[in-house]
Amino acid sequence: MDRRNFFKIVSTASTGVLTGACGKKLDRYVPLLVAEREIVPGEEVWRPAACGECGAGCGVIVRVMEAERVVERQGDPVRERIATIKKIEGNPLDPVSGGRLCARGQAALQGLYNPDRLRGPLRRVGPKGKAEFAPTSWAEAIAVAAEKLEHVRAKDPSRILFLTGPQAGTRALTIARFLEALGAPPAVTFEISDFPIERKAADLVFGWKGLPVYDLANARYVLGVGADFLGGWASPVFYARQFGHFRQGRADLRGRLTQAESRMSITAQAADLWIPLPPGTEVLFTAAIAHLLLREKLARGPNGVPQQVVQAFEAFDVTRAVRACGVEERRLLRLARELGESERPLVMAGASVVQTNSLESVITAHYLNLLLGNVGKPGGVLPPAPEPIGGRPGFANALALLERTQFVFLDGANPAYTWPASTGVAQKLERVETLVSFAPFLDDSGAYADLLLPDHHMLEATAAIVPAVAPVAAVTLATQFVEPLYETRATEQVLTELAKKMELTFEPATPKNVLASALTEGQTWEEAVRQGGVWAAAGGVEAEQPKPRKTGTRRGEGPTAPALELSAPSFFGDTSQFPYYFHPYPSLQFGDGRAANLPWMQELPDPVSSAMWGLPVEIDPQNAARLGIRTGDLVRVESAHGRLEAPAYVHPAAIPGVISMAIGDGHRHFGRYASNRGANPLSILAPVWEKSTGALALGATRVRITRLASGRLIQFSVSDREQGPWGYR
Ligand code: SF4
Repeated sequence: MDRRNFFKIVSTASTGVLTGACGKKLDRYVPLLVAEREIVPGEEVWRPAACGECGAGCGVIVRVMEAERVVERQGDPVRERIATIKKIEGNPLDPVSGGRLCARGQAALQGLYNPDRLRGPLRRVGPKGKAEFAPTSWAEAIAVAAEKLEHVRAKDPSRILFLTGPQAGTRALTIARFLEALGAPPAVTFEISDFPIERKAADLVFGWKGLPVYDLANARYVLGVGADFLGGWASPVFYARQFGHFRQGRADLRGRLTQAESRMSITAQAADLWIPLPPGTEVLFTAAIAHLLLREKLARGPNGVPQQVVQAFEAFDVTRAVRACGVEERRLLRLARELGESERPLVMAGASVVQTNSLESVITAHYLNLLLGNVGKPGGVLPPAPEPIGGRPGFANALALLERTQFVFLDGANPAYTWPASTGVAQKLERVETLVSFAPFLDDSGAYADLLLPDHHMLEATAAIVPAVAPVAAVTLATQFVEPLYETRATEQVLTELAKKMELTFEPATPKNVLASALTEGQTWEEAVRQGGVWAAAGGVEAEQPKPRKTGTRRGEGPTAPALELSAPSFFGDTSQFPYYFHPYPSLQFGDGRAANLPWMQELPDPVSSAMWGLPVEIDPQNAARLGIRTGDLVRVESAHGRLEAPAYVHPAAIPGVISMAIGDGHRHFGRYASNRGANPLSILAPVWEKSTGALALGATRVRITRLASGRLIQFSVSDREQGPWGYR
């Protein structure tokens, strides 16, 4: 949808809330719960909203039309006329989505109308982890939660843990204020979708707080390292739009992309050249390019790089990278020249699959960008836009915290799924005295909860969200326009009621009061609601060039840039027993697993294997032949910490020795479409962390693989089976 059509359709909408399923009037015939003027039969109304399916925070618009539903009231079927959401599109005014959406955003509808949504509060009636619950009233649920919370608070509020998703906005700010009122520690996020490595690297090298913005649209030559930016990394819609412009948006100029990654990701598939790197060798690859850039006198901004780092690049032995990466020096030299000679070169680095040395890898890539002189320039690396709403939860390895906690809140976090079984997460959740989950569905972690207090779906909510990556300061705004379908309650409201019961001084953050200060002169709240957000005017992309930092500066003497570290990655598992690298990756369709309960996502063919309703284990043709594995065979993947069984997919482009698997399946509890479907690759990982951030090292586990039996993989297309090995090794 373009901007012109947006104004045409949205400007006709009234600002009133459409009454929906929760009207109180009872009528045996056809009760009109919606005033005629609000919802006209057969006519569509479009409303701005926010997508909550991942942390990118895309602005959307939704198509609302009248519909009917049959409900039972006092034993009688009653037909209700309701306002329903029929379709979701990107909001063309939003600088992140720009009128586009990803598949998960489109499928958010199936979260709203999902038959497995919790319809009201529930209390545990069986053993923890068994997911046995009975309905309760909101009044009772809040009274119970308040009593237990008060008990812990009075003794030791540091034993309260709020585990959240990574998103900033009014929800996060409300939680921050609530915890402050309690005297409890700030909320923590420990989700792989927070990108802690990328945040830390930007902070250490540039002093930036937040994810850098890669100005891909205006670059001419891009080297991607470890960041599958078209496959779900950071902000998929934003970077997919940027990529479209990079390729086709400029007359007579088609941007060129080289992608260096340990599997043929979606980004690698779209690249002009894919450099298959063994896991964890990104840092050596990047250092080699930097060395060659300096050697060839193609570095434009060596003065922007700390002297010790320049010296370390100069002293780097390229043969070390050649051996580790399996890339010939002449190819590395060609890449360095392509970057160095490009008018607008850019290195996009990230850690879609975190290794123990990923922080070093991203830091090295930032130094390479500084050598290329592109930081703060069009087509280069830009600083994150300021966040108009505070309270973003900090990232922390929450394992130790969970160990000593008595009261846990879960909001947007599902540790029983995303933390490896080897961390003992199940036992830790079982041991917690009181666990309260705000998830709209019964999920793997909710099964351990004492109380399930379901939140509204994002399309029923009022919220302001700060996007993870935005070119300008931005807030995506959602205001309620349909009544919630069920007896759910906004988490902000639940926290307010808890605070009231406990007689705490607390005020939730609402979009209206928080955004009042972000509105510029002439902007009104009504206008922000009508547009679906508040965005700073898109200006030029020139940013202040970061000041060169000195390495090794002592504490208290100003910012210290990290020295260059080029360590080898660590892997857990004896090579003789576990000869393969295991490479679990966040998938386009399921992210970190949170979209697995959406049937459209289950039936969306996997972009690599085209598998549907089940994710396979990817193995290269050479090893598959040696082990007698064919596509569709049931295989067992074992680490020192667990095993899983799944169908195999013999991937012609898999790197020999790397066993990959998308994250998404293998939920124990997540509704009818996801429960007990497939296997969870995270469950067999070793408890290995990137040491500086505490992030789970997704790619640090070694495994073995065994064929178990013949089987079947449901694939949309099987044409790739006709291809043999790619022979790049
Ligand atoms: S990128 Fe994330 S926020 Fe944007 S549409 Fe997709 S799922 Fe929604």
